[in-house]
Amino acid sequence: MTEAQQEQRRYALAISGGICEVCGKQLSQNGWQGAHRIANTKPNRMKWGAWIIDHPMNIAIVCSLGCNQLCNIGNNPGKCLRLVKKIVEKELKRF
Ligand SMILES: [Zn+2]
Repeated sequence: MTEAQQEQRRYALAISGGICEVCGKQLSQNGWQGAHRIANTKPNRMKWGAWIIDHPMNIAIVCSLGCNQLCNIGNNPGKCLRLVKKIVEKELKRF
């Protein structure tokens, strides 16, 4: 793992509050993973754009693969649109 990736992990863990977003379990230093809300697939990259898929707000910090899978909102168009709207509104504030 590179220094930049370690820094990203520290940052993600810090903003998660140290707990799993799905089940609320306390996360250990290495016992967690980043889950894509809109899955990181080629069709999704075509549909939403890489900047949405790779955006920090599209990543949930969770404790396990089971919780990871519960984060997937790709089959719920309303949830996808609301997430994309939030990301667009956040990015718009920079201009
Ligand atoms: Zn969990």
